[in-house]
Amino acid sequence: MIIALKPGVNIEEVKKLTADLENLGVKIDASQGSSQIVLGLVGDTTVINDDALRANHLIERVIRVQEPYKRANRIFHPLDTVLEFPGAKIGGSSFTLIAGPCSVESRDQLVAVAEAVKKSGAAFLRGGAFKPRTSPYSFQGMGCEGIDLLVEAKKATGLPVVTELMEISQLELFEDIDMIQVGARNMQNFNLLKELGRSRKPILLKRGMASTMTELLMAAEYVMAGGNSQIVLCERGIRGFDNFTRNILDLSIVPALKKKTHLPVIVDPSHATGLSWMVPAMSKAAVAAGADGIIVEVHNDPEHALCDGEQSLTPGQFDSLMGVLRKYAEIEGKAI
Ligand code: PEP
Ligand code: MN
Repeated sequence: MIIALKPGVNIEEVKKLTADLENLGVKIDASQGSSQIVLGLVGDTTVINDDALRANHLIERVIRVQEPYKRANRIFHPLDTVLEFPGAKIGGSSFTLIAGPCSVESRDQLVAVAEAVKKSGAAFLRGGAFKPRTSPYSFQGMGCEGIDLLVEAKKATGLPVVTELMEISQLELFEDIDMIQVGARNMQNFNLLKELGRSRKPILLKRGMASTMTELLMAAEYVMAGGNSQIVLCERGIRGFDNFTRNILDLSIVPALKKKTHLPVIVDPSHATGLSWMVPAMSKAAVAAGADGIIVEVHNDPEHALCDGEQSLTPGQFDSLMGVLRKYAEIEGKAI
């Protein structure tokens, strides 16, 4: 249930109203909109008498929310959520570029890619240290050593870093990591989501490969219910019947999410297509669809990459893409 208050209401009276509602057993999230306060009520709202509320002199509108996601719902929080990092933002009027290798492979590789993407204008460095691989015989990532190298690259370039956490026991290693990725395979690992709700680290939540938009938003809701609302949603392609591309990039989820939620939405054209030559076209399309950024795989030597070489751009290709995206972002009224 949403309660929109009248503009300019007396704060003491609002406190009394929220206390009365909390006594009925619901939790309240208050958010300040551009001109009025909006109260989001979560919990069993069947005990609340809508008509009595509508008669209250503080209240302009009472809306019952149909969707199962509440805290992630734009009705609860009409303004865009913007995540702030040292030297970078995600959401609002920014278009944010996250770039780096699929996996951290060595100091030389990571430093070369980090310096190159920074020079081109990327705002974040990505790189997997713990890798979810389909085969147990494939490279599983450098683990803790990979995390150390990411932190080194962050210090050397000043770029904030994002990397995937596969299980909660790894959380203590992520202290100097700026944003924690929850991969497609873990999107519905509810215990993990609950634990991340207790953390105050920003979360990059990737869409599961067979998940609906509501399921993605409910996964975000798990994290938000724990008190962590620093979440970025990521469309990374879903399973389809045609295997020409690695996945099917569902770009239509971008405007749909932007309508339904206040959380920032980014696109991963690398995992969506699996083919580096398609990444520029799909990146441009992501800007046009209204995304708040993209996460792109870049490798200094794609032919010898230990993971996802076929979908990785070279630093030169990434640099050209940046030039084009700046113009596209400008048309959309966003700044890179
Ligand atoms: C990745 O970002 O390298 C990755 C494994 O992503 P996803 O979870 O989308 O497959
Ligand atoms: Mn990858």
